[in-house]
Amino acid sequence: MADIVALSSQRQKKRCLTNHLHKKARQLMPYDDRIHFCGSHVQNEFIKPGVILTETTNGETCARIRGIARCGSSWSCPTCGALKAEQRTQTAAAIIKTLDTQRYSFVFMTFTCFHKPGMGLNDLIDRHSKAMQVFKQDKSARNVKKAFEFQGAIIGADSTWSDKNGWHWHIHELWACAKDSDDIQADIEQFKSTLKQRWQHACKRSGLYASLSNGLHIKQMFSPDHDTVGYIAKISDPVREVSSQYTKGGRKEGHMTPFQILEKYANTTGKLKRRMAAVYKEYVESTKGRRQFRIDTKLKGLYEEITGELIELDPDLVESLNAVKPEEHFIPMLGSTLNWVLMNDHYIEFLERCEADIGAAQRWAEEGERLSFLRSISGFSEANQDMIVFAA
Ligand SMILES: [Zn+2]
Repeated sequence: MADIVALSSQRQKKRCLTNHLHKKARQLMPYDDRIHFCGSHVQNEFIKPGVILTETTNGETCARIRGIARCGSSWSCPTCGALKAEQRTQTAAAIIKTLDTQRYSFVFMTFTCFHKPGMGLNDLIDRHSKAMQVFKQDKSARNVKKAFEFQGAIIGADSTWSDKNGWHWHIHELWACAKDSDDIQADIEQFKSTLKQRWQHACKRSGLYASLSNGLHIKQMFSPDHDTVGYIAKISDPVREVSSQYTKGGRKEGHMTPFQILEKYANTTGKLKRRMAAVYKEYVESTKGRRQFRIDTKLKGLYEEITGELIELDPDLVESLNAVKPEEHFIPMLGSTLNWVLMNDHYIEFLERCEADIGAAQRWAEEGERLSFLRSISGFSEANQDMIVFAA
């Protein structure tokens, strides 16, 4: 296995990391949490299981198991979180590119507030949501939206944590505006202080504090291909910062994303490990049932009007993973063989083998399953393998 991983591409390395985090998250979740069945077996009642091979844009072969069970949680499951992030980024990118060709402008807003250690995340999110509602209904803020010729927004929630400052919960909104780029720039300068003041007022009404300098960040976005889409990917990709630890050095010391907390939990011992476990569990409990990402009705309507297409924001994850696109190649395999792969922790190795040589990978898994079966019926061991095979 070691030599296969050594040859891995960046994408394969990210898959290893996601799989590693997935195992750590499982250790911390209660036994009845859906994450325990995520990736543990294949569901073959309604579809034919197997492996789907797809060619990536840079010419690499990418394999996925068809029929694999998934929990679909974008908050607490590193695997489903990363998969959903990919879907969301693609949807958002399609909207942004379409609107850009129609000369719409984009304003990126980040709503945050003062926080300190000891402030519970659940209460912070409740109060922050209330503040967002107050801000949305605020007359002056609505007038600014009118001035911008606001046409709808893409909205994402995000959180980091640090020992020094506690939970840093924030909402990102990408506003699509009908005004052209130069006019929006002038409007931002003119109305920036009004928006900051109204956000401060909304926070006060919800029992929070937002400073005028740090509470609300407003930025005009340019060149959607590289800038805006990159931002959306940043908002919605939950393993981004953990991956960047290996490539770019990560965020500044102390500020950790939830999956960085998970990574720290995995790499520490004793008191610090228990602390990281408690922080991660609080994050999972506090975000349960909340929406992480959405596109508002107004923007969906506008996109539909321009393109004649409906936006499917969160298509069923399992359904889309199981669908075989015309350009993809499907290799049917037995559910029992794939279950041998999953139940024996060979997921990463198997996919990498499939990407290198699908026929050899299938034979390897079938042989693994066969030996495992022989072991189970005859007390078989590696040492007497030849004898048992001969006897069979
Ligand atoms: Zn999952």
